Amino acid sequence: MSSLRPRPGILEIAPYVGGESAVAGTRPAVKLSSNESAIGASPKAMAAYTAGATSLFRYPDGSAEALRQAIARHHGLDAARIVCGAGSDELLTLLVRAYAGPGDEVLYSRHGFLMYPLTALSVGAVPVAAAEKNYTADIDALLASVTSRTRIVMVANPNNPTGSYLGRDEMLRLRRGLRSDILLVIDAAYAEYVSRNDYSAGVDLVAAFDNVVMTRTFSKIYALSGLRLGWCYGPPDVIDVLNRLRGPFNVSTPAQQAGIAALDDQEFLSKARAHNDRWLPWLIERYRDLGLVVLPSVANFVLVGFGTAERASRAAAALKAEAILVRAMAAYGLPEFLRITVGLDTENEAVIRVLGAFVAVDRL
Ligand SMILES: *Cc1c(COP(=O)(O)O)cnc(C)c1O
Repeated sequence: MSSLRPRPGILEIAPYVGGESAVAGTRPAVKLSSNESAIGASPKAMAAYTAGATSLFRYPDGSAEALRQAIARHHGLDAARIVCGAGSDELLTLLVRAYAGPGDEVLYSRHGFLMYPLTALSVGAVPVAAAEKNYTADIDALLASVTSRTRIVMVANPNNPTGSYLGRDEMLRLRRGLRSDILLVIDAAYAEYVSRNDYSAGVDLVAAFDNVVMTRTFSKIYALSGLRLGWCYGPPDVIDVLNRLRGPFNVSTPAQQAGIAALDDQEFLSKARAHNDRWLPWLIERYRDLGLVVLPSVANFVLVGFGTAERASRAAAALKAEAILVRAMAAYGLPEFLRITVGLDTENEAVIRVLGAFVAVDRL
């Protein structure tokens, strides 16, 4: 081993492990482990990606001007207050790098997205987890966990992996309860799936306060996960900071072109949403019929409880034996659960069939 030592905190990071993607043998896996969109990407986005091959020898537009304009048009936002990134993960990481450092605290909800504590550790900051109520972020607990060292609060809304969400009023109460020098990061990766009247992705809070940012992604409902494309909407000074920190060409040309085409294809977006609206309630009902614990979800995945960690891993093994991959939840402190993404028609039916056979013999 060399005498090189990384900065404090870095060796505490357990490397992020993504959802499993392959099974032994030649069978194609049914991948329900990473919340990717069942119906895939818009054919128009794929065509734009392919057409971009001829310009691969050129550097991308470093300011992603056309893409930011398209996002701004689509969402009714100011393009100057948008930064694009190689996935929203990049932007979340840059926000933490910019606003937290050694000794600072980054506050998140106990079963919040795993990237938040990992990112905090990467800059030597201390991740602080606030308790939840009913597997949902609890505003009172978050506010009670704030200390003089808190610099950032990160909330996924809806949350991955629980599928729960906070209403507009609750998010406003959170912001109002935080000191003004604390940045509130709203990670709305699954916003397009939510159709609740009391839900807001966060645009209104960014507009009303100068210390709130919202991150969005093309990885989930737009199904461009493999391209790495996300964006952040925030106050001008935070956007300026992100533009200073990011790589000058952080978003590739094909990603920019496919992103514009994906936004243009709202018909395909409606299709993806309709698919989820049809299958999510069906799956929730079937999981319940099987006697499993199901948390209400507003996204494209369901957290399914098996009572014990051992039974959850036996269920995952039973699914895997049929080439169906789901996400184990031990890293989230939820070892008795599996997170299962909404798939295609036959995939959803297969999950229910395999779990039906499983619970018939493996009783709690
Ligand atoms: C998937 C996901 C993201 C981001 O993904 P990118 O592919 O980096 O844009 C961010 N937050 C949550 C909660 C997610 O589930």
